[in-house]
Amino acid sequence: MIDRPSPARLYAAPAAARHAPSRYRFRASIASYGRTHCLVTTETRCGPAWPHSPFHLVYVGTNWSRLMSKVTKLSCSCGAVEMEADGSPIMSTECLCTSCRSAATTFERLPGAKKLCEPSGGTRTEMYRKDRVRCVDGSDHLREHRLTDQTKTRRVVATCCNTPMFLDFTEGHWIDLYSVLWPENTLPPLQMRTMAGDLDDPSKLPNDVPNLKSHSPTFFVRLIAAWIAMGFRRPKIDYVNGVLDISGK
Ligand SMILES: [Zn+2]
Ligand SMILES: [Zn+2]
Repeated sequence: MIDRPSPARLYAAPAAARHAPSRYRFRASIASYGRTHCLVTTETRCGPAWPHSPFHLVYVGTNWSRLMSKVTKLSCSCGAVEMEADGSPIMSTECLCTSCRSAATTFERLPGAKKLCEPSGGTRTEMYRKDRVRCVDGSDHLREHRLTDQTKTRRVVATCCNTPMFLDFTEGHWIDLYSVLWPENTLPPLQMRTMAGDLDDPSKLPNDVPNLKSHSPTFFVRLIAAWIAMGFRRPKIDYVNGVLDISGK
């Protein structure tokens, strides 16, 4: 969080400014605090408040608008692997596809692993632009798991505590972060379930959000809008080290 300065301050200008004409100055700049960037505007008004006094009044008003200030801190269960995500997710989804359910079953069998499957059988993720997510600590614990040798999709697990961290479609511009990384009660609300067509009986799903047979036009529009905003880049995730041993040793 940023400490906002008081919106306005009044102070006395030196006597040398006494005969200066009234003036108004406006400045705008970008200030960076770590990974937080703010637009800072400063207004200065100076005028003869008391014509016969040795002081002029200077008014300084500072307005801060946050361009991109929300950083979500994420971690595996033991805290050894820390990640950060900037801003809001592209979408909050639950995937019911056969691959996600199969991988979740595998991950839940790892020693010490927590439950990953939702009551529906799906896995809950937050979809972010790849350029807005980073691993800030413990990347040496990250291992990938692919369901087949040919697939371009890998799921990454933190081996320190066997927490599933994210799904990476290696040719895509987004990353699906598993909901288990969010501290309790901070996960953004679910917006849709996808790939319900892979279930034997999708009619049993709750009706709290749309249950899409595969994906919807809205899903693709949001995904493509994010890609346009990224300038059609597809950043690579280069902080995964090796392959997960699913025998659980
Ligand atoms: Zn861990
Ligand atoms: Zn899936």
